[in-house]
Amino acid sequence: MTNQTDVVVIGASHAGSEVASRLRQGGFTGSVALLGAEPHLPYHRPPLSKAFLAGETTVDQLLLRSAEAYAKANIEWHPSTVVDSIDRALRTLYLSSGAALEYGKLVLATGGRPRRLPIPGAELQGLHVMRSIADVDALRPAFTPGARLVIAGGGYIGLEVAAVAVKAGLDVEIVEFAPRVLARVAGPGLSAFYEAAHRAQGVKFRLGTGVQAFEPSAENPSQVGGVRCSDGSLLPADLVLVAVGLVPNIELAKDAGLALGNGIVIDEFCRTSDPDILAIGDCTEFPLPFLGGARVRLESVPNAVEQARVAASVLNGDPKPYAAVPWFWSDQYHLKLQSVGLSQGHDQVVLRPPRTAEGFVAFYLKEGRMIAADCVNAIIEFNMAKRLITDKVIVDPAALADPAVNLKSLLPVAAS
Ligand code: FAD
Repeated sequence: MTNQTDVVVIGASHAGSEVASRLRQGGFTGSVALLGAEPHLPYHRPPLSKAFLAGETTVDQLLLRSAEAYAKANIEWHPSTVVDSIDRALRTLYLSSGAALEYGKLVLATGGRPRRLPIPGAELQGLHVMRSIADVDALRPAFTPGARLVIAGGGYIGLEVAAVAVKAGLDVEIVEFAPRVLARVAGPGLSAFYEAAHRAQGVKFRLGTGVQAFEPSAENPSQVGGVRCSDGSLLPADLVLVAVGLVPNIELAKDAGLALGNGIVIDEFCRTSDPDILAIGDCTEFPLPFLGGARVRLESVPNAVEQARVAASVLNGDPKPYAAVPWFWSDQYHLKLQSVGLSQGHDQVVLRPPRTAEGFVAFYLKEGRMIAADCVNAIIEFNMAKRLITDKVIVDPAALADPAVNLKSLLPVAAS
């Protein structure tokens, strides 16, 4: 590693890999270093709980870009490299290896880590989380037919792992504190749709129920043997997945004295409170133009990629602010969910009969305008919703609900 690098990116994943590549695409000629704590080249994280866990994808197929692509773009990639601290006055990073590295500009793309449950038994073996290739490698040996898997948390990751597990022959039960699955991110209609889909495959649910403790196994006291729930019941378990959300990795920024909220505080150009430091991806809290500048922290690949584009434009001296409408996807069984917009603050939900037997379409409206949509196996509806939301079109709810109405006809004439 050279002593002074023009742009250093901390965190080699979706956001970090993308900003380094976009910098070069934008004509940046200075030195670029990409530092990552993990031993792997930056990889697609979404398949971890889907095809990769199912054994349908290899590590090589997960990679975002090949080693040759970084070398060709003259991006220095440093695996297994952990940054311990930032000295902003000296513009120097201190690594856990003892090395120091000076930067011209710094990009924090440190993402997040799984939230743990600080409850009795949290130290037992057999408790798993799902964020990295290492997490899947740790989980796989226990992923055997007949094993009893309890999943704490009915969010997307919990549901995706449940889908793979039940197909692999495990006995799966999800314990969710909220009264419905996906309560934090989706409307009640979509929650009911997914609960029914999972029940049909044999997944069991305990909703409105907290996890109070992990109990040791009678045969091996260092191994988990059950999950004690808030209703007093004990669910026998051979393994447990704790999927209760993400904690943003903000400690480096905090210790360096950067402004923090529900993440590292940045503006619409991904600039932190230090003019030499940008931040992007899951670790940031930023003003979302789509919500009139309301500050959010988003956890999605499209957001990480959009912020990387913005940060690269700033570093290349041609700043282009955040412009995208947020969207997200999830794959469970044969169900492909695509969500666009954010439904918070909606005053009307319109359900549109799906075109396929196993589809679902919900549009969320606020003051007559569509602000979000959840579409399962409904790519046409998703694409139309994206345009209606982006163009802030006033829509007729009756037309949205009528399967005989072509959604394209609701777009403004110039756009259709
Ligand atoms: P991360 O991917 O978290 O990467 C941050 C990197 O920084 C990590 O490699 C970390 O090791 C490294 N790092 C942190 N601190 C340091 C340090 N001090 N020194 C060096 N390196 C450091 N999104 C979707 O849009 N659709 C999906 O279907 C979907 N499915 C998902 C399924 C799973 C199982 C998971 C875990 C996530 C999923 N996501 C999905 C979310 C998506 O993966 C994240 O939004 C995305 O990875 C965020 O990218 P990031 O680069 O901001 O952070």
